[in-house]
Amino acid sequence: MIDMSAMNAVHITPGLDRAYVEGGATWGDVDAATTPFGRATPGGLISMTGVAGLTLSGGIGWLRGTHGLSCDNLVAADVVTADGDLIHASETENADLLWALKGGGGNFGIVVNFEFRLHPVAEELIFCAPAYPEERANDILPKWRDYMATAPDEISGLAEFSTIPGDPAYPEPTWGKRVVTLATVYDGPAEVGERVTQPLRSLGEPLLDFSGRMSYRALQSIYDEMFPKGRDRCYWKSTYLAGLDNGVVAEITRRVATRPSEMTLASIWKFGGAVQRVAADATAFGDRSMPFMLSLDAIWSDPADDEANIGWVRDVWRDMQLYSTGRLYLNFPGLGEGENLVRDAFGAETYARLQMVKRAYDPHNLFHMNQNILPR
Ligand SMILES: Cc1cc2nc3c(=O)[nH]c(=O)nc-3n(C[C@H](O)[C@H](O)[C@H](O)COP(=O)(O)OP(=O)(O)OC[C@H]3O[C@@H](n4cnc5c(N)ncnc54)[C@H](O)[C@@H]3O)c2cc1C
Repeated sequence: MIDMSAMNAVHITPGLDRAYVEGGATWGDVDAATTPFGRATPGGLISMTGVAGLTLSGGIGWLRGTHGLSCDNLVAADVVTADGDLIHASETENADLLWALKGGGGNFGIVVNFEFRLHPVAEELIFCAPAYPEERANDILPKWRDYMATAPDEISGLAEFSTIPGDPAYPEPTWGKRVVTLATVYDGPAEVGERVTQPLRSLGEPLLDFSGRMSYRALQSIYDEMFPKGRDRCYWKSTYLAGLDNGVVAEITRRVATRPSEMTLASIWKFGGAVQRVAADATAFGDRSMPFMLSLDAIWSDPADDEANIGWVRDVWRDMQLYSTGRLYLNFPGLGEGENLVRDAFGAETYARLQMVKRAYDPHNLFHMNQNILPR
């Protein structure tokens, strides 16, 4: 393992249009450098995740509707290859490598520097997050789906099943209650976002409502406490859904209700806007036509519960394939799923193209402790 964590510097250009991010930086490092200047580039939802892994396999966050995935904002990169050479990848130099870095994972070399496009971000945004009782999910989720279908690009969101923890931070009567939270961000001024997201907060009586105005930087760490480093055991696996009709909603609700751990999350992520305006062959991330992703995020504490939790994810995931596009997100890939997982996740055409790039930059597969692409 190569520990990149000391390489975490972030520089932004005087014109405020680009950020140069070293290969071991976290999203917290990036947001700390860019937000004082009213700028951001799309990251993930948690500040402690690394820029590199998240970007190299896509990167799904709150700004995706307006600015796409993290990898869509990657302009260039400096890469140390398997031979130890330092090379530059851009639209004009090693363009095949830049294409592969936009979704193809850590297969092609060590990225020591990323160049990202920056965008203006409002000083205060609305985080809209009403939490409805889970037993009402079959009523709430179709309404959420219909709202998202006509929502402007500025809206990005997910519907998340979870359990309110027995924690003094939450009102005691809600402890242990299962909820579905419609977590939504409007990428624009908070007063506009508040108005646009209001319908999501009036779909009935929420059990709790976590909505509020905050800076983009605060928003980017709002979930951090839920994921303390090294505490929990996790097994997360995703599938892209071809649609979300009422039958699919009912099936998800029924299966998620059987989760063995109250720490587990399950989320339906909506795609649209800028994500879907990128052509399938423009990046190694591939096809963007999927409207939703289901991610099954099993979390538990006791190693004795490994089998129950991993088995639960695998069973539900397998049965949900009936409603899937057949692909999954390689940053939520499960683990030990067999050699076809990576090939299937990319699809035959993208995988074959990635294999050619792999052969050009890492013919002996030095970088193989990853979602591995075999050199052609
Ligand atoms: C709590 C939590 C929340 C998450 N939330 C989101 C989210 O909101 N959106 C989302 O899209 N994903 C999310 N993810 C998934 C996340 O994108 C992946 O876990 C990703 O691998 C994290 O990257 P990392 O660099 O932190 O991980 P690492 O384990 O450090 O790296 C993962 C892999 O990336 C490659 N890699 C890392 N650094 C480099 C480098 N410098 N050069 C080349 N290859 C490299 C290597 O193959 C490495 O094995 C989340 C994960 C967690 C644990």
